[in-house]
Amino acid sequence: MYDLIIIGGGPAGAAAAVYAARKRLKSVLIIKEFGGQSVVSSDIQNWIGTPSISGADFAKSLKAHVFAAKGEVLEVKEGMQVERVERSGDHFIVSAGAEKFETRSVLVATGMSRKKLEVAGADTYENKGLTYCASCDGPLFADKDVVVVGGGNAGFETALQLLAYCKSVTLLHNHTNYKADPVTVEGVLNDPRMHGALNAHIKEIKGGQFVTSVVYTDGASGKDIEIPAEGVFAEIGHYPSTNFVKGLVELNEFGSIITDPRTQRAKIEGIWAAGDCTDAPYHQNNIAGGDAVKAVEDLYLWLKGGVKNWWAIQGSNL
Ligand SMILES: Cc1cc2nc3c(=O)[nH]c(=O)nc-3n(C[C@H](O)[C@H](O)[C@H](O)COP(=O)(O)OP(=O)(O)OC[C@H]3O[C@@H](n4cnc5c(N)ncnc54)[C@H](O)[C@@H]3O)c2cc1C
Repeated sequence: MYDLIIIGGGPAGAAAAVYAARKRLKSVLIIKEFGGQSVVSSDIQNWIGTPSISGADFAKSLKAHVFAAKGEVLEVKEGMQVERVERSGDHFIVSAGAEKFETRSVLVATGMSRKKLEVAGADTYENKGLTYCASCDGPLFADKDVVVVGGGNAGFETALQLLAYCKSVTLLHNHTNYKADPVTVEGVLNDPRMHGALNAHIKEIKGGQFVTSVVYTDGASGKDIEIPAEGVFAEIGHYPSTNFVKGLVELNEFGSIITDPRTQRAKIEGIWAAGDCTDAPYHQNNIAGGDAVKAVEDLYLWLKGGVKNWWAIQGSNL
């Protein structure tokens, strides 16, 4: 019987593993591989304490840190995918391939994948002007014309971030109404460098070595319109990797695990979640790592102190 099973090898899973090992929790880290989503990035510039690191080196440093901390108490199972977590009495059974692990607590840190644009040029220009993360890549497009594809809150928040440094931002939305909150829409569209195009269906991303323009079809007239742009930011949705806990923990309408942000507890005793698989609104490496640390601090007290209703005692709804 393990104290803790951590699932996922991104910054959340790695941070949790380091803290669990230092607290001498008998634990297992089950991962497909180290690194997480930003492993494909050529240059991560906001991992605190590290001004610049490639995604590949980021993955290596997470792995090195976990192995430096692991000691005798943490096992690392690399190249494995968790298929199911089930409750069994007062503990859980985690299934990965032919193996089953019994544990008193589980920390889910399996992140998410982003919905990709499926238009001509999208594959060619990914990371050559087309990106899926404004906080990560926005500053690279200072003083340039950029396009945001989306029309929900994430699209507008992306546009708002980009207005801090870009020359102009054009937001293309394929419906006749924005899905974002009206107050957000109004605030963002008020900026004179911001242009919103409704019923605008992105058709192609064009360029040479890097993106130079975007073509979209105007749904009202049926005409194709080409606009100059050096950056394209797609915010068209994401898929949290949470299928293996469906029915066990409470998920929101997008499939993200609903957590108490003070403790990272899911809505079931004994399960915590951290990083991009949760319903937290912001998705960054530092946030994922920090949330995982918070989770381990809390589950340690729960495991050792038997303080089962720790937050309930202090007035939590969970
Ligand atoms: C292209 C790109 C660039 C980015 N650049 C930056 C940046 O520069 N700075 C920044 O702060 N943020 C960046 N981000 C965002 C950042 O990568 C995420 O916020 C962060 O990775 C979330 O970490 P996580 O640990 O929660 O999840 P993830 O990084 O998604 O890691 C989850 C891990 O769990 C594994 N996993 C999933 N399901 C299972 C399963 N069933 N069993 C076992 N393992 C499983 C996955 O393979 C993955 O390795 C970027 C994102 C993208 C897409």
